[in-house]
Amino acid sequence: MLESSLLSNIGCFIDGTWRKASDKLIDVLNPATGEMLASVPDLGARETVEAIEAAALAMRETIPVDVRRRWLLGIVKLLNDHREELARIITLEQGKPLKESVGEVDYAAGFFRVATEHLYALTDRELPGTIRDARWTVRHAPAGVAGLITPWNFPLAMLAKKLAGAIAAGCASVTKPADLTPLTSVALWHLMESLDMPRGFVNLITGAAKPIGDTLCAHPAVRVISFTGSTGVGKLLMQNVAPHVKRLSLELGGNAPFIVLEDADIEKAADALVASKFRCAGQTCVCANRVLVHLDIEQAFTDAVVSRVAKLKVGDGMDATVDLGPLINRAGWDKVARHLEDALRRGGKRVFGTDPQPPTGQRACFFSPQVVTGITPDMLVSQEETFGPLVAITTFADEQTAIDLANGTPYGLASYVFSRDASRAQRLSRALRFGHVGVNTGSGPIPDAPFGGMKQSGFGREGALEGVLEFCEVQTVCEG
Ligand code: NAP
Repeated sequence: MLESSLLSNIGCFIDGTWRKASDKLIDVLNPATGEMLASVPDLGARETVEAIEAAALAMRETIPVDVRRRWLLGIVKLLNDHREELARIITLEQGKPLKESVGEVDYAAGFFRVATEHLYALTDRELPGTIRDARWTVRHAPAGVAGLITPWNFPLAMLAKKLAGAIAAGCASVTKPADLTPLTSVALWHLMESLDMPRGFVNLITGAAKPIGDTLCAHPAVRVISFTGSTGVGKLLMQNVAPHVKRLSLELGGNAPFIVLEDADIEKAADALVASKFRCAGQTCVCANRVLVHLDIEQAFTDAVVSRVAKLKVGDGMDATVDLGPLINRAGWDKVARHLEDALRRGGKRVFGTDPQPPTGQRACFFSPQVVTGITPDMLVSQEETFGPLVAITTFADEQTAIDLANGTPYGLASYVFSRDASRAQRLSRALRFGHVGVNTGSGPIPDAPFGGMKQSGFGREGALEGVLEFCEVQTVCEG
């Protein structure tokens, strides 16, 4: 069992009180060992309605901007003060190396800090002069109760992106974390209890996704749903909210191209690729999925990548020397194994790695890094996000082919271009239909910049001012 000062209450937080499970529980397992860490309540539609109604009540009075700023900064302080313990909980339930979890806590804190910097934009804006004999004011009102649904790969950061925007806008919320990694949220709620938020302003509910999700979609008080997860569930949410016409912000799956032109700095590009590809064991929506390398430098670039990959250590994320933790579960392991097998069967050449040992159970699903060249567009690794430590390298002979290959996917989240020629790299960045383009860097999103997808990677933005505006309704008042 997981002992933590931040987990004295393991339950849901509804209307300002901790709710324990009566009978049904969801076990949370350590993905590195299979050990049971804790159990969270398996609540459903009835409790979701209670949470939504408590949230609606908490929003009846407008919460002044100064109060919201104080709460946001309070959360920043709490995250900073409890950085190591939160990181330990993230690693234990998610599996990523402890150093990455510490980075995730800092990253999460950034969203609450940045949200305070944009509160000024929510001030009422009066149009100059009199128009049609009236005085005109534009307001950014809180949209209503927000439903926040988060994935397992960044249990704190993906929640922080949403919760920071909702609090900044003045929206009460109901959060449903992934059932694989709910404990980080429970710890955050334990910390937020020390703030003077009204009852019901922030609610946390764990349980089966469908009844909770369906209730959030259907309840009239919920006016915005912010979801991060797979494109399949995103499409389902679009259908479910359609009859109720409510706002959706969808942060969905990716299939990131990583383009290395013949004039690129090969060492720098290889460093960036390895950092991008192997973070969270390759289970990030922005990690390089398709590596597109100019023919002339394929060998040199592949050698540079392999020399780095050979140094990576796989193991339990609690071990400070480990670079790659386990995959989240057997389904995740099977997907990467399927992509590897498909690529090798269709003519891909493995230049680093050995056949991974199938796990015996649902956890301890370690996958050793793989580098495969000769990848073609028909292979699964090209068509779907692999979500694992498999570097898939393909070649191109000219710039237009690189652009066509990169854009040849229904997804449009993150992309990367490496070239020493700045104007060429800029030209490519404009041609790429992706919400995020890294030019000579493998950096993913930061709290200060808006981030989100194009095409089937979703719509809406998180971070920066745009991430706050997702939770606002614009209201225009004309006084005659
Ligand atoms: P997922 O299976 O779609 O689950 C995401 C969340 O949705 C979980 O909380 C899940 O609950 C919930 N959910 C499942 N079915 C639902 C339903 N019918 N109604 C409402 N909620 C439902 O995705 P995942 O496997 O956790 O996350 C991996 C995916 O997220 C990848 O595709 C990745 O690319 C994407 N992702 C995108 C971004 C981005 O910024 N675009 C960031 C991170 C991850 P349960 O856990 O209880 O099933």
